[in-house]
Amino acid sequence: MKRWILIVLTVLLIGMALLLFILPRSKPLNVVLISIDTLRPDHLGCYGYTRPTSPTIDRLAREGVRFERAFSSTSWTLPAHLALFTGLPDLVHRVMTEDERLDDNRITIAEIFKRNGYRTWGIFTGPFLLPRWGFDQGFDAYMDLTLYDKKLDGAEMLQASERGRTTPGALDKVEDLLSERKDDPFFLFLHLFDVHADFDPPPPYDQMFDPDYSGPVNGIDIMNNPNIHAGMNLPDLAHLVSLYDGEIRFVDEMGISRLMDLLDAHGLLERTLIVITSDHGEEFFEHGVFGHRQNLYDTTLRIPLILWAPGLVPLGVTVKRQIRIIDIMPTVLELCGLSQSPECIGKSLVSYFTSGESKKKELPVFAEVKSWKRYHEALRMEQYKVIHDYKKEEKMYIDLTSDLNEQNPVTKTTGITFKEALDKFFDIRFNLETYKKTLIWSNRAVPEMDEELRQRLRSLGYLK
Ligand SMILES: [Zn+2]
Repeated sequence: MKRWILIVLTVLLIGMALLLFILPRSKPLNVVLISIDTLRPDHLGCYGYTRPTSPTIDRLAREGVRFERAFSSTSWTLPAHLALFTGLPDLVHRVMTEDERLDDNRITIAEIFKRNGYRTWGIFTGPFLLPRWGFDQGFDAYMDLTLYDKKLDGAEMLQASERGRTTPGALDKVEDLLSERKDDPFFLFLHLFDVHADFDPPPPYDQMFDPDYSGPVNGIDIMNNPNIHAGMNLPDLAHLVSLYDGEIRFVDEMGISRLMDLLDAHGLLERTLIVITSDHGEEFFEHGVFGHRQNLYDTTLRIPLILWAPGLVPLGVTVKRQIRIIDIMPTVLELCGLSQSPECIGKSLVSYFTSGESKKKELPVFAEVKSWKRYHEALRMEQYKVIHDYKKEEKMYIDLTSDLNEQNPVTKTTGITFKEALDKFFDIRFNLETYKKTLIWSNRAVPEMDEELRQRLRSLGYLK
């Protein structure tokens, strides 16, 4: 072949490669960050569950990246979502109870998108995401879709707060937003609350996974049902789990599937990044209790994480290394080509699915849970966990290589492994405390909670 033909061909090939590289980035990526509250990953098909709870989420996992071992910063809604929004563990963002709010000086993911010219929308469907705790920071519109009707009172009001099926309303709002939007890009945070108790999915989801049950347990008013307790009848417990699974299927269809249809109808599928995660899991008496905000075992600390963006995120990759809720913000920002928050502690996970994960440094999960009843902190490494119970003044060590279900914690500080793990726990804790002191704080107090809100939170089992 003549030399000049070779040169022309080479130039053409390089040009095409450059075009392929540049074109997908020439249009900014839209982002939908979805938190399905209280969703245990081991109840999703793509994480190995045998019931068909999640056909849409499973498809997105097959077409994107799934993180096998993702962990929250806590086991309840309020601090976990602020860790998601800031890339900071709870000890650093400082909101560990309902008496604290996110400091105005902290940088949120919505603020970064807004600064970069994005429209920023937040939709929330549960009361622990109210703006009073600082969640609205950076959103052009932060919308309350809890379907809480102030015209109701007494029992009616509680019923609305507990049992309202909020996913369809949230998706109606998404439909409005997409129809009314004038231009891209947008960042949409979508919080879906129906998997959270009560477990009261509408037909056919209520009977989908346990159609023959006729016992005394239903998913309504779980916190006060005398049939629900440690050591409860196994068929009753199985029914409770079936109702929880029914809620997952309901959200998969009414939430995620409908979202994909809406994006498709607006021609947005090719340039939208979908992130599916949760704030915490749910305990079904694996450690003697029900619900969450009770402890820091993996039943409530582990969360799902799936990224979907064809052409940008590889197809069907599973990341096995341990990663954290605080890593989601830097990962999303890197995928969108935006600068990171200078104060973020989380690490971008993009290299975990683009260049191999095996040589990556282990990411320690530092978690806490605090309420009027308890104060625990935990360090989760890939091989072990340390839990410090401040109220009982007890430290526990769990060897995750032999006790993945965390049934046999060691409580005596004997043995070099336990001691080394505790040293690591205190080192990391000290470093986080030291880092927190380097940040500048405005210290605006959280508004006083009115009786109405107290009642709503009490109905969900949170307050005394
Ligand atoms: Zn939650």
